[in-house]
Amino acid sequence: MTFERKIVVGLEDIKAVSFACEQCQFKLTMSPDDVKKIPENCPSGHEWYFGQDEPHVVPAIKNFYIALAKLRMQSERKAAGFRILLEFDEPKA
Ligand SMILES: [Zn+2]
Repeated sequence: MTFERKIVVGLEDIKAVSFACEQCQFKLTMSPDDVKKIPENCPSGHEWYFGQDEPHVVPAIKNFYIALAKLRMQSERKAAGFRILLEFDEPKA
């Protein structure tokens, strides 16, 4: 018999949202309820593409963290009658 183990978390379980530079180890971490302005570059000068090449990225990122804050509030108030759960594979040992 094979058991598959999953990690299931609700939006209310999210402790932080991090924006991690793909080129260095810098990570900007914020409370999921307090994600405000995201810098355009990491402190090491690596560009984070908020420019013209990817104009759809900025609204998507803003929509993501605004939606996350709103959904977490709704989840607290049980306003929707259901919860959004995120499921992950358990890390390999
Ligand atoms: Zn960097």
